[in-house]
Amino acid sequence: MLVAAMNPCPCGFRGDPKRQCNCTPMQIERYLSKISGPLLDRIDIHIEVPPVPFRELSNKTTGTNSDTMREQVIRAREIQQERFGKKSSNLNGKMSPREIRTHCKLSPDAESLLKSAMEEMGLSARAHDKILRVGRTIADLEGASTIEIQHLTEAINYRTLDRTYWSK
Ligand SMILES: [Zn+2]
Repeated sequence: MLVAAMNPCPCGFRGDPKRQCNCTPMQIERYLSKISGPLLDRIDIHIEVPPVPFRELSNKTTGTNSDTMREQVIRAREIQQERFGKKSSNLNGKMSPREIRTHCKLSPDAESLLKSAMEEMGLSARAHDKILRVGRTIADLEGASTIEIQHLTEAINYRTLDRTYWSK
């Protein structure tokens, strides 16, 4: 598994509610374009992480705790095992384009959202398939058989960097 992090801009404060970023759009674009589109395209999930205030780091936070998440992951793995049968090494993330067509049924509104996202964000075929694989997993985590609009929305939101400049 590859996990990587980068600053949002050369100074690092873009999007920070407490600090001022003075980078120009041009500087930001030049900075982000250091990572090539084809490389970004191969990373499944892009997400913006806001700065965490110190007291939240030390507090007991709400949100999904590790135990609950663990149970959801185990269940999602079981669903995938049922889905791929004998090919038990297979996972949603490794679905071929043909398997995607078979296993990633979208609700009608999710279908039209994907279509407009493709057009507006100018996504590559690879990004399109990644959205469906990730959307399938999000739906599995909820135990849903069809990929509904909220699952797809979340999956599209994990392509932040495609939206910001890869489509240019
Ligand atoms: Zn900046």
